[in-house]
Amino acid sequence: MSARRPLDADVLIVGGGPAASASALHLLRLGIQPLIVERERFPRYHIGESLTGECGNCLRELGLEDLLSQRGYPIKLGVTVWGAGGKNSFWVPVKKRNAQGALEEATTWQVRRAEFDQDLLQAACDRGALHLEASADKPLSENGRITGISAALPSGETRDLQARVVLDASGQATFLASHGVTGPKSRGRYNRQVASFTQVKGARRDPGPAGGNTLIFYREKHHWAWFIPLDEEVTSVGVVAPAAHWQASGPSKEEALRRELETLNPELSQRVAGAEFVEEVRTASNYSYHIERFTGPGFLCVGDAHRFLDPIFSFGVFFAMQEAKMAAAAVQASFAGEAGAFSAFEEKADRGQRVVQNLIDCFWDYPLAFQRMAHQTHTDDIIDCFAGRLYAAEDSLSEGVQIMRRLAERPHEDALS
Ligand SMILES: Cc1cc2nc3c(=O)[nH]c(=O)nc-3n(C[C@H](O)[C@H](O)[C@H](O)COP(=O)(O)OP(=O)(O)OC[C@H]3O[C@@H](n4cnc5c(N)ncnc54)[C@H](O)[C@@H]3O)c2cc1C
Repeated sequence: MSARRPLDADVLIVGGGPAASASALHLLRLGIQPLIVERERFPRYHIGESLTGECGNCLRELGLEDLLSQRGYPIKLGVTVWGAGGKNSFWVPVKKRNAQGALEEATTWQVRRAEFDQDLLQAACDRGALHLEASADKPLSENGRITGISAALPSGETRDLQARVVLDASGQATFLASHGVTGPKSRGRYNRQVASFTQVKGARRDPGPAGGNTLIFYREKHHWAWFIPLDEEVTSVGVVAPAAHWQASGPSKEEALRRELETLNPELSQRVAGAEFVEEVRTASNYSYHIERFTGPGFLCVGDAHRFLDPIFSFGVFFAMQEAKMAAAAVQASFAGEAGAFSAFEEKADRGQRVVQNLIDCFWDYPLAFQRMAHQTHTDDIIDCFAGRLYAAEDSLSEGVQIMRRLAERPHEDALS
């Protein structure tokens, strides 16, 4: 019998985005050796620039605050949501919970993802993560357990890589799901939406420290725009609308986006009047999905690799980084022989995602009730959700979350189906 060859790492991570780098950084802290397999050479463009308050804390916890400060990223104090016609705005500040549990002022960042992702990956490598530029082609398994991947190198060579665990952080490529390793992938509620976005110079921001904030502009149900400052001059702008709306619009995607920016909401049009596009116009469609059974023998999925809800309140990078921390702890527990560590991770990850699903559904289906909660009746609960404090046990959910759940999960016609 031939001797088994040594493992390439304890944990093999597919992808090199925030979920991957944060997983590697947490694993290294726990004394576990990760190998990151990313197919793209960084820096590479990626959408997803506004971070939640707790996402900022994930970065601080990993000791990355100086790195972000050196980049000079805009400081985000919160998000303003402008209602249809530029009326009835509401404001959700970034706040943290102090040691006594009280809410305190806090800040987070807006980031340029090409640099941010590169910095995170570099930080993971500097601290000891292995990194291979290669594309994960297919998972390897033995007796029903995932044992590694087969990777295609840029040279065209193929290499089999073995590890105790494969952590799928491949984002919307959903590597393990697309090879049938996980449960089925289902379309989410917002899967017929299309986002069209670019970066502009010359957009007008709010004066003073508020100039770094995220602005959201509502036109009508499922039709909205974002405004996210990326540096002193450049602002990320994007419009999201049902696919059918775009099909009926202008001849080129540049013209269609320009027209949307001019007409979607007067508060937006006056901010972008005369602004110059400094990036190509890109689109993202069919982006809402979730995957069942995203952990199993020898594998876990983290971040977009198992679910993406909707970009409206900027939870994607937070989920990637928070789940990375939870996944690293689950890997450590399973190496220590704890049965059920992966399924406990899966249950907790789903719990947080469900709160955000409820929040977004409630925002779209009951906008007036939502606004009243954010403004008047459940301000602190909404602030906690927007920050990313989402993982309370089912029997200790805040009143605000319980109300949103009751509203969001009562049977209703799905406007997009
Ligand atoms: C329109 C839109 C706007 C958004 N706005 C925001 C926002 O403002 N704030 C926010 O927090 N989130 C936002 N998001 C979500 C955010 O972009 C994602 O949730 C986040 O990037 C997920 O991180 P990740 O590490 O899971 O995946 P990714 O960042 O996508 O990283 C996955 C990596 O895996 C690599 N990969 C894939 N397949 C393979 C393979 N087979 N082999 C090797 N490597 C592979 C890819 O090259 C990629 O680098 C937005 C999303 C959309 C669609």
